[in-house]
Amino acid sequence: MIKIDSKLCSGCGTCKEICPVDGVRIIDGKAVANEQCIDCGTCVASCPTQAISQA
Ligand code: SF4
Ligand code: SF4
Repeated sequence: MIKIDSKLCSGCGTCKEICPVDGVRIIDGKAVANEQCIDCGTCVASCPTQAISQA
């Protein structure tokens, strides 16, 4: 599963919109990955604040 740095996340929702499997929710203005995530990596490059990384 991807890692999202909540300190860098602005809550813009881009990762949620781009995710093909609904793997991200926005909770209290921060993106949180969930078990739906298949580690496709699509959202990593989409994040404008580089908050998302892959292990
Ligand atoms: S794209 Fe980046 S900044 Fe925007 S909600 Fe997702 S993790 Fe946060
Ligand atoms: S890595 Fe792929 S499946 Fe996982 S949250 Fe990002 S876009 Fe969705």
